[in-house]
Amino acid sequence: MPIKTIFLDRDGVINKEKNYLSKVNDFEFISGVFDACIHFHSLGYSIIVITNQSGIGRGYYSDSDYQKINHWMLKEFNKNNIKIMDVIYCPHSPALECDCRKPKSGMFLYAKDKYDIDMKKSWSIGDKETDIVASENSGISNTILVRSGHSIDETNTSAKFVIDSIENSNQIITE
Ligand SMILES: [Zn+2]
Repeated sequence: MPIKTIFLDRDGVINKEKNYLSKVNDFEFISGVFDACIHFHSLGYSIIVITNQSGIGRGYYSDSDYQKINHWMLKEFNKNNIKIMDVIYCPHSPALECDCRKPKSGMFLYAKDKYDIDMKKSWSIGDKETDIVASENSGISNTILVRSGHSIDETNTSAKFVIDSIENSNQIITE
């Protein structure tokens, strides 16, 4: 049976947005992220992180820098009894015009096929309109834009909901 999933952007949704975060020491979880994920699990959702990491392609940090942060982040989730099913990232610079970098839907469609995900029953949470567009184009209509990352244009978003941060998502995702 297809599973339902919460797709999370990383920077600005899980952790505070820092320009091209490259070190574990600069990684700060956004308040309430663990409680939110526990809530998602209790409703039967799996959780997948989908993140643009063009800092790799631009040469600002290495793939190994990224892996260190990712490994540490997953350990912290584990400590809090949260299972992140996968983290899918695009390492490419925009100039490469790959199919994975959001607003393209490549990473979402890859996850959908790999895990047999019912996109209609799934949700996506992002801090940029490109997260919302990528989600919609992969068949996710349940989209949430958060104010906890990049500054957003609330009058010009196609997101279904706009909330302060992932901390408030339990008011919207209730089944
Ligand atoms: Zn890419």
